[in-house]
Amino acid sequence: SEKTMEKIVALCKGRGFVYPGSEIYGGLSNSWDYGPLGVEFKNNVKRAWWRKFVQESPYNVGLDSAILMNPQVWVASGHVGGFSDPLMDCRDCKTRHRADKLIEDSGVLPAGWSDQEMQDYIKEHHICCPECGGCNFTEIRKFNLMFKTFQGVTEDAKSEIYLRPETAQGIFVNFQNVQRTTRKKIPFGVGQVGKSFRNEITPGNFIFRIREFEQMELEFFCKPGTDLEWFAYWKDYCKNFLLSLGLKEENIKLRDHEQKELSHYSNATTDIEFLFPFGWGELWGIADRTDFDLTQHQNHSGKSMEYFDQEANERYIPYVIEPSLGADRMALAFLCDAYDEEVVDEAKNDVRVVMRLHPALAPFKAAVLPLSKKLSEPAREVYATLAKKFMVDYDDAGSIGKRYRRQDEIGTPYCITFDFDSLEDQSVTIRDRDTMDQERVKIDDLPAWIESKLEF
Ligand code: ATP
Repeated sequence: SEKTMEKIVALCKGRGFVYPGSEIYGGLSNSWDYGPLGVEFKNNVKRAWWRKFVQESPYNVGLDSAILMNPQVWVASGHVGGFSDPLMDCRDCKTRHRADKLIEDSGVLPAGWSDQEMQDYIKEHHICCPECGGCNFTEIRKFNLMFKTFQGVTEDAKSEIYLRPETAQGIFVNFQNVQRTTRKKIPFGVGQVGKSFRNEITPGNFIFRIREFEQMELEFFCKPGTDLEWFAYWKDYCKNFLLSLGLKEENIKLRDHEQKELSHYSNATTDIEFLFPFGWGELWGIADRTDFDLTQHQNHSGKSMEYFDQEANERYIPYVIEPSLGADRMALAFLCDAYDEEVVDEAKNDVRVVMRLHPALAPFKAAVLPLSKKLSEPAREVYATLAKKFMVDYDDAGSIGKRYRRQDEIGTPYCITFDFDSLEDQSVTIRDRDTMDQERVKIDDLPAWIESKLEF
């Protein structure tokens, strides 16, 4: 619900996950800064993706290409000219809407429709402004989503360049470089994590839709004809990745695009949607893009994008399967999924807020809590040892109960209490965030104990 979203935003701001951007200047609309806990959390999200999609995959390698690219790239990709939203303003309340979204919200998919068709449909079906109820719209205008800037000292058309609106093109233009230098054979994939920029018309819902965001994209190259098989493979792989990190199965659904909804070059597309507090939203787009992108680059650059398949003794432009995910959106999905209010004692009206994040994603893996300030010195030693291996917190302020609750709220899976007995038995008590169960563990065994909990 709206209230849950408000609570999550408040917690994020209050505990240092996400702050409003440029806040002391009154902000910059829909920009957000990741605080001390947020940066750890988002890094863990990106690390988890990299581990599954690059490190553990026998097929894939990584890349980190530049944000600024030759403008011809965007002509070839279709972003210059295309990639523009059909906008209309409500004449009564001045809110701006995407014509396709208005139609979509009325239960019809306007895939492939022209601006005129959309305009006519809206008029004929009396679709009105969701803000004010007025039915008086301007004509559709196109709006390019790419941020434009200038390279060099002169600000003329020749020096115009764009901030990339997706990371994918950096992979396509390096297809031959990567294949040649790694000597990878088809099928293989190239993964990349990095910033993308889109001048979104309707940003919002916290970090769900923002103008500066991070993407985690895989372009998986395969032999034409094997594409649907690989499409199914990566669809499963993506879903299992989310589940392995504890995302609740009932909160995700796979939505296959219907034939008429598919882009002209796509053989199949599926969105993994997540049930955010504000409703279902696209989390991950997985598309079979055939040889569209590489062919476009071959035609525009004049450089061959063909691959020589030694086994089959043939030359072809590979097909590509693209699972494309936003790091910020994944972070938001996991925050929403993990947020919980647990009634501890009904009679006392005692409710605890718990972020049930998977230990691999949690900002702190553990917090070291000395039972008394007199135990600071040896407790600090435990902290220092663990800090060499993991992000850990140290807290000696306030009652132990209050300290547990503070850690619950930020998702720390384990609280390590150093008590007076610890001096004798060289052991500490570990309290589990989710079950609140306690376990006595030797200090020397702590690193291995924590390590074992981070697997996914
Ligand atoms: P939408 O329909 O939500 O605008 P899209 O279909 O344009 O998304 P893609 O171009 O397929 O999105 O981008 C792939 C992924 O990148 C999305 O599934 C999402 O996770 C992420 N993403 C795209 N745009 C944004 C944004 N403005 N803010 C945050 N994440 C985004």
